[in-house]
Amino acid sequence: MNLILLGPPGAGKGTQAKRLEQRHGIAQISTGDMLRAEVKAGTEIGQRAKAVMESGQLVSDELIIAMLESRIQKPDAARGFILDGFPRTVPQADALDLMLDRAGTRIDAVIELKVDDIALVDRIAGRFTCASCGAGYHDDFQKPRAEGVCDVCGGHEFTRRSDDRRETVAARLEAYHTQTAPILPHYSKTGRLVSLDGMADVDSVSREIEAVLARVPNRAVTIN
Ligand code: ADP
Ligand code: ADP
Ligand code: ZN
Repeated sequence: MNLILLGPPGAGKGTQAKRLEQRHGIAQISTGDMLRAEVKAGTEIGQRAKAVMESGQLVSDELIIAMLESRIQKPDAARGFILDGFPRTVPQADALDLMLDRAGTRIDAVIELKVDDIALVDRIAGRFTCASCGAGYHDDFQKPRAEGVCDVCGGHEFTRRSDDRRETVAARLEAYHTQTAPILPHYSKTGRLVSLDGMADVDSVSREIEAVLARVPNRAVTIN
Protein backbone atom coordinates (compact mmCIF):
# COMPACT_ATOMS: atom_id res chain seq x y z
CA MET A 1 0.00 0.00 0.00
CA ASN A 2 1.43 3.37 -1.06
CA LEU A 3 0.17 6.55 0.58
CA ILE A 4 0.71 10.28 0.41
CA LEU A 5 0.22 12.40 3.54
CA LEU A 6 -0.39 16.00 2.55
CA GLY A 7 -0.70 19.04 4.76
CA PRO A 8 1.06 22.19 5.88
CA PRO A 9 4.12 22.19 8.14
CA GLY A 10 3.09 21.03 11.61
CA ALA A 11 -0.12 19.33 10.43
CA GLY A 12 0.94 16.00 11.98
CA LYS A 13 2.25 14.17 8.88
CA GLY A 14 5.41 12.88 10.55
CA THR A 15 3.55 11.83 13.71
CA GLN A 16 0.96 9.87 11.73
CA ALA A 17 3.51 8.46 9.23
CA LYS A 18 5.51 6.93 12.10
CA ARG A 19 2.36 5.25 13.46
CA LEU A 20 1.46 3.92 10.00
CA GLU A 21 4.98 2.60 9.55
CA GLN A 22 4.70 0.64 12.80
CA ARG A 23 1.17 -0.62 12.28
CA HIS A 24 1.41 -1.58 8.61
CA GLY A 25 5.13 -2.28 8.11
CA ILE A 26 5.40 0.26 5.30
CA ALA A 27 8.27 2.74 5.03
CA GLN A 28 7.97 6.39 6.04
CA ILE A 29 9.69 8.46 3.36
CA SER A 30 10.17 12.00 4.64
CA THR A 31 12.05 14.27 2.24
CA GLY A 32 12.59 16.71 5.14
CA ASP A 33 14.26 14.00 7.27
CA MET A 34 16.36 12.94 4.27
CA LEU A 35 17.50 16.52 3.69
CA ARG A 36 18.33 17.01 7.38
CA ALA A 37 20.46 13.83 7.26
CA GLU A 38 22.33 15.23 4.23
CA VAL A 39 22.90 18.55 6.01
CA LYS A 40 24.19 16.74 9.11
CA ALA A 41 26.55 14.59 7.03
CA GLY A 42 27.81 17.69 5.18
CA THR A 43 27.21 16.20 1.72
CA GLU A 44 26.95 18.29 -1.44
CA ILE A 45 23.15 17.98 -1.37
CA GLY A 46 23.17 19.09 2.27
CA GLN A 47 25.30 22.11 1.49
CA ARG A 48 22.96 23.13 -1.32
CA ALA A 49 19.83 22.67 0.82
CA LYS A 50 20.84 24.10 4.21
CA ALA A 51 20.31 27.83 3.69
CA VAL A 52 17.11 27.27 1.68
CA MET A 53 15.62 25.14 4.47
CA GLU A 54 16.56 27.64 7.15
CA SER A 55 14.83 30.44 5.25
CA GLY A 56 11.63 28.37 5.03
CA GLN A 57 11.70 28.19 1.21
CA LEU A 58 11.46 25.01 -0.85
CA VAL A 59 14.53 23.16 -2.12
CA SER A 60 14.72 22.82 -5.93
CA ASP A 61 12.42 20.29 -7.61
CA GLU A 62 15.33 18.79 -9.53
CA LEU A 63 17.28 17.92 -6.36
CA ILE A 64 14.22 16.59 -4.52
CA ILE A 65 12.93 14.48 -7.41
CA ALA A 66 16.32 12.77 -7.92
CA MET A 67 16.58 12.06 -4.19
CA LEU A 68 13.05 10.64 -3.99
CA GLU A 69 13.43 8.47 -7.07
CA SER A 70 16.44 6.63 -5.67
CA ARG A 71 14.73 6.30 -2.26
CA ILE A 72 11.60 4.54 -3.53
CA GLN A 73 13.77 1.97 -5.27
CA LYS A 74 15.28 0.80 -1.96
CA PRO A 75 14.17 -2.67 -0.83
CA ASP A 76 12.23 -1.47 2.22
CA ALA A 77 9.91 0.57 -0.02
CA ALA A 78 8.89 -2.52 -1.97
CA ARG A 79 6.25 -3.43 0.65
CA GLY A 80 4.74 0.01 0.42
CA PHE A 81 5.54 3.53 1.56
CA ILE A 82 4.10 6.69 3.07
CA LEU A 83 5.27 9.88 1.40
CA ASP A 84 5.58 12.59 4.07
CA GLY A 85 6.45 16.03 2.71
CA PHE A 86 6.53 15.02 -0.96
CA PRO A 87 5.18 16.02 -3.47
CA ARG A 88 5.22 19.70 -2.55
CA THR A 89 4.90 21.34 -6.00
CA VAL A 90 3.05 20.59 -9.22
CA PRO A 91 6.29 19.51 -11.03
CA GLN A 92 7.02 17.09 -8.14
CA ALA A 93 3.53 15.58 -8.42
CA ASP A 94 3.95 15.15 -12.19
CA ALA A 95 7.40 13.57 -11.71
CA LEU A 96 5.96 11.18 -9.11
CA ASP A 97 3.30 9.96 -11.57
CA LEU A 98 6.00 9.19 -14.14
CA MET A 99 8.22 7.42 -11.60
CA LEU A 100 5.39 5.21 -10.38
CA ASP A 101 4.32 4.38 -13.93
CA ARG A 102 7.87 3.27 -14.71
CA ALA A 103 7.94 1.17 -11.52
CA GLY A 104 4.56 -0.39 -12.38
CA THR A 105 2.92 0.81 -9.19
CA ARG A 106 0.50 3.49 -7.99
CA ILE A 107 -0.64 5.59 -5.05
CA ASP A 108 -3.56 3.98 -3.21
CA ALA A 109 -4.69 6.96 -1.16
CA VAL A 110 -3.83 10.62 -0.66
CA ILE A 111 -4.72 11.91 2.79
CA GLU A 112 -4.80 15.63 3.50
CA LEU A 113 -4.57 16.81 7.12
CA LYS A 114 -6.30 20.18 7.45
CA VAL A 115 -5.13 22.45 10.28
CA ASP A 116 -5.61 26.21 10.82
CA ASP A 117 -2.54 28.40 10.34
CA ILE A 118 -2.77 29.74 13.90
CA ALA A 119 -2.66 26.24 15.39
CA LEU A 120 0.27 25.35 13.11
CA VAL A 121 2.44 28.10 14.55
CA ASP A 122 1.97 26.69 18.08
CA ARG A 123 2.58 23.13 16.92
CA ILE A 124 5.82 24.03 15.15
CA ALA A 125 7.12 26.27 17.94
CA GLY A 126 6.61 23.46 20.51
CA ARG A 127 7.96 20.56 18.45
CA PHE A 128 10.97 18.53 19.62
CA THR A 129 12.42 15.14 18.77
CA CYS A 130 14.37 12.38 20.53
CA ALA A 131 18.00 12.67 19.40
CA SER A 132 18.51 8.88 19.53
CA CYS A 133 15.40 7.41 17.89
CA GLY A 134 13.66 10.36 16.20
CA ALA A 135 10.37 10.00 18.14
CA GLY A 136 8.40 13.24 17.91
CA TYR A 137 7.03 15.24 20.86
CA HIS A 138 5.41 18.57 21.69
CA ASP A 139 5.85 20.85 24.73
CA ASP A 140 2.08 20.95 25.37
CA PHE A 141 0.29 18.42 23.13
CA GLN A 142 2.52 15.33 23.18
CA LYS A 143 4.81 15.31 26.20
CA PRO A 144 6.97 12.29 27.03
CA ARG A 145 5.31 10.23 29.82
CA ALA A 146 8.26 10.90 32.13
CA GLU A 147 9.74 14.37 31.75
CA GLY A 148 13.06 14.33 29.90
CA VAL A 149 12.88 10.62 28.99
CA CYS A 150 11.93 9.32 25.53
CA ASP A 151 8.90 6.95 25.73
CA VAL A 152 10.24 4.84 22.88
CA CYS A 153 13.96 4.35 23.60
CA GLY A 154 14.57 5.82 27.06
CA GLY A 155 16.93 8.44 25.59
CA HIS A 156 17.57 11.66 27.51
CA GLU A 157 18.63 13.94 24.66
CA PHE A 158 16.23 15.89 22.50
CA THR A 159 16.67 18.24 19.56
CA ARG A 160 14.75 21.12 18.04
CA ARG A 161 14.90 21.95 14.34
CA SER A 162 16.67 25.18 13.41
CA ASP A 163 13.79 26.08 11.05
CA ASP A 164 11.13 25.61 13.77
CA ARG A 165 11.28 29.24 14.84
CA ARG A 166 8.23 31.49 14.88
CA GLU A 167 10.01 33.87 12.44
CA THR A 168 10.44 31.14 9.79
CA VAL A 169 6.98 29.64 10.11
CA ALA A 170 5.30 32.42 8.09
CA ALA A 171 7.57 31.73 5.10
CA ARG A 172 6.89 27.98 5.34
CA LEU A 173 3.12 28.49 5.49
CA GLU A 174 3.30 30.86 2.53
CA ALA A 175 5.28 28.25 0.56
CA TYR A 176 2.57 25.70 1.41
CA HIS A 177 -0.34 27.89 0.32
CA THR A 178 1.25 29.14 -2.90
CA GLN A 179 3.27 26.12 -4.08
CA THR A 180 1.88 22.98 -2.41
CA ALA A 181 -1.88 23.57 -2.12
CA PRO A 182 -2.15 23.74 -5.97
CA ILE A 183 -1.38 19.99 -6.12
CA LEU A 184 -4.62 19.13 -4.27
CA PRO A 185 -6.79 19.26 -7.46
CA HIS A 186 -4.28 16.89 -9.10
CA TYR A 187 -5.38 14.20 -6.62
CA SER A 188 -9.03 15.14 -6.13
CA LYS A 189 -9.57 14.76 -9.90
CA THR A 190 -8.72 11.07 -9.70
CA GLY A 191 -10.96 10.53 -6.65
CA ARG A 192 -8.07 9.50 -4.42
CA LEU A 193 -7.97 12.56 -2.15
CA VAL A 194 -9.49 12.33 1.31
CA SER A 195 -9.38 15.44 3.54
CA LEU A 196 -9.38 14.89 7.30
CA ASP A 197 -9.70 17.22 10.27
CA GLY A 198 -6.11 17.50 11.48
CA MET A 199 -7.18 19.74 14.39
CA ALA A 200 -8.40 16.69 16.33
CA ASP A 201 -6.07 15.00 18.84
CA VAL A 202 -3.37 12.59 17.63
CA ASP A 203 -5.31 9.39 18.43
CA SER A 204 -8.50 10.64 16.75
CA VAL A 205 -6.59 11.54 13.59
CA SER A 206 -5.00 8.06 13.58
CA ARG A 207 -8.45 6.46 13.84
CA GLU A 208 -9.73 8.54 10.92
CA ILE A 209 -6.74 7.53 8.80
CA GLU A 210 -7.28 3.84 9.60
CA ALA A 211 -10.92 4.18 8.55
CA VAL A 212 -9.78 5.60 5.20
CA LEU A 213 -7.28 2.79 4.69
CA ALA A 214 -9.90 0.16 5.46
CA ARG A 215 -11.84 1.41 2.44
CA VAL A 216 -8.83 1.32 0.05
CA PRO A 217 -9.34 -1.35 -2.60
CA ASN A 218 -6.45 -3.81 -3.30
CA ARG A 219 -4.64 -3.01 -0.09
CA ALA A 220 -1.82 -5.39 -1.00
CA VAL A 221 -0.62 -3.34 -4.01
CA THR A 222 3.18 -2.91 -3.86
CA ILE A 223 6.03 -2.08 -6.21
CA ASN A 224 6.82 -4.96 -8.56
P1 ADP B 1 4.51 17.63 10.22
O1 ADP B 1 5.32 16.39 9.97
O2 ADP B 1 3.25 17.68 9.43
O3 ADP B 1 5.33 18.89 10.05
P2 ADP B 1 4.51 16.75 13.04
O4 ADP B 1 3.97 15.39 12.97
O5 ADP B 1 5.98 16.90 13.26
O6 ADP B 1 4.05 17.62 11.75
O7 ADP B 1 3.71 17.53 14.19
C1 ADP B 1 4.06 18.88 14.56
C2 ADP B 1 4.01 19.02 16.08
O8 ADP B 1 2.64 18.93 16.51
C3 ADP B 1 4.75 17.93 16.84
O9 ADP B 1 5.35 18.52 17.99
C4 ADP B 1 3.67 16.92 17.23
O10 ADP B 1 3.99 16.30 18.46
C5 ADP B 1 2.43 17.80 17.36
N1 ADP B 1 1.20 17.15 16.86
C6 ADP B 1 1.08 16.26 15.84
N2 ADP B 1 -0.22 15.91 15.67
C7 ADP B 1 -0.93 16.61 16.58
C8 ADP B 1 -2.34 16.69 16.91
N3 ADP B 1 -3.26 15.97 16.23
N4 ADP B 1 -2.69 17.51 17.91
C9 ADP B 1 -1.78 18.24 18.59
N5 ADP B 1 -0.44 18.21 18.33
C10 ADP B 1 -0.02 17.40 17.35
P1 ADP C 1 7.45 20.33 7.65
O1 ADP C 1 6.51 19.27 7.22
O2 ADP C 1 7.48 20.53 9.12
O3 ADP C 1 7.27 21.61 6.88
P2 ADP C 1 9.74 19.03 6.39
O4 ADP C 1 10.63 18.31 7.31
O5 ADP C 1 8.85 18.26 5.50
O6 ADP C 1 8.93 20.06 7.28
O7 ADP C 1 10.59 20.01 5.47
C1 ADP C 1 11.56 20.89 6.00
C2 ADP C 1 12.16 21.73 4.88
O8 ADP C 1 12.83 20.85 3.93
C3 ADP C 1 11.14 22.49 4.02
O9 ADP C 1 10.81 23.75 4.57
C4 ADP C 1 11.90 22.61 2.68
O10 ADP C 1 12.89 23.62 2.73
C5 ADP C 1 12.62 21.27 2.60
N1 ADP C 1 11.82 20.23 1.89
C6 ADP C 1 11.35 19.06 2.41
N2 ADP C 1 10.66 18.36 1.50
C7 ADP C 1 10.69 19.12 0.35
C8 ADP C 1 10.13 18.95 -0.95
N3 ADP C 1 9.40 17.86 -1.28
N4 ADP C 1 10.36 19.93 -1.87
C9 ADP C 1 11.09 21.03 -1.56
N5 ADP C 1 11.63 21.25 -0.36
C10 ADP C 1 11.43 20.30 0.61
ZN1 ZN D 1 13.92 7.92 21.63
